[in-house]
Amino acid sequence: MTDQSTKTPNPEAKQNDKPVKRIVVKVGTSSLTDDNGSIQPQKMWALARGVQVLQNKLNCKVSVVSSGAGAVGRERLGLELPLTMPEKQAAAAVGQALLMLDWARAFAPLPVAQLLLTASDIQERERYVNAKNALEASLKFNTIPIINENDSITTSEIKFGDNDTISAWVAYLMDADVLIILTDVDGLYTADPRKHKDAERIRIVEDIAEVEHLAGDAGSSRGTGGMVTKMTAAKIAAEAGIDTIIMSGGGEGLELLAASNLDASELGTRIIAKSQRPARKAWIGQLSKKGTIVIDTGAFQALQQGRSLLSSGIREVTGNFVFGDAIEVLLDGEVVAQGMSNYSSDALTQIKGLKSNKIREVLGYKDYDEAIHRDNLVLK
Ligand code: GLU
Repeated sequence: MTDQSTKTPNPEAKQNDKPVKRIVVKVGTSSLTDDNGSIQPQKMWALARGVQVLQNKLNCKVSVVSSGAGAVGRERLGLELPLTMPEKQAAAAVGQALLMLDWARAFAPLPVAQLLLTASDIQERERYVNAKNALEASLKFNTIPIINENDSITTSEIKFGDNDTISAWVAYLMDADVLIILTDVDGLYTADPRKHKDAERIRIVEDIAEVEHLAGDAGSSRGTGGMVTKMTAAKIAAEAGIDTIIMSGGGEGLELLAASNLDASELGTRIIAKSQRPARKAWIGQLSKKGTIVIDTGAFQALQQGRSLLSSGIREVTGNFVFGDAIEVLLDGEVVAQGMSNYSSDALTQIKGLKSNKIREVLGYKDYDEAIHRDNLVLK
């Protein structure tokens, strides 16, 4: 097991190595509501302030994964557990609206962007690209994305189930550098701190496999996740090259974390990522390819400079693919890149060789300027 007393994290080095550009903060139901499930606006204001301090201090973008819809809706409708699935869905529909009202007030004048995801938004390529693009555009407009599971239309079989897992997937989706899971326990302990007085908080975890067994099953009655789901989330994040910080303290905790330049050693547990490889690109690399496009030398040079692939650089299109499918990019008979196409094979066939400003004229619509966005492209 990791010996936390002798190991201190070196966040300074991490900061210098790789500036933190994107952070996902996951806020659990217990961090937003009282024991009855009523929203506690002052907790949300403090969280909103903490998020903004993080953004300003680190010059980064923060997205929030917020639970609470179910608990808030149940409280508003006066419902007692257990509920049927449709009742849960209705409670979430009511609670989500109330939750967003309070988030909008808490972040004002910054706009908030509500994004409700289901598991299939991550699993299916087309929906994945769609969710990612919506998130990217929301960030571009300097909104604070507030993400939750789309509980009012999901059922048990198609649910992520807990927002810890969703937060890891969102971190992966937006290529975050750090995932912060805010909860009511200040990190992972060597034993359950409520039962064992001598339990010690583990400050840094280098290999998550060594500590998974410590998670136990502690969870609050209003949310769904305990430490087990936090470990699952940290594992998904670690494999995607993203560090996870598990901590308590609400908005004030976030402010302290920002002041310490993301050094969580006094505040919680930091789980170090396994790889630095950008998760999405690794994922794109292993997708099965549905088609091929041949590009010209100019387009290839642009790709080498980290730019997107435009329709003007495409010479030939083969295969039968749709928006979001992975395709191979060829130059002189050699595969030079692969990526996820923003247009179908039919559409690309029509717009190949044309400048982006001709796309609408030819197709009757233009959803994207790029044929393959640089974020969805891996060079060979
Ligand atoms: N999506 C659920 C909600 O907003 C919460 C799930 C969780 O607590 O992890 O009520």
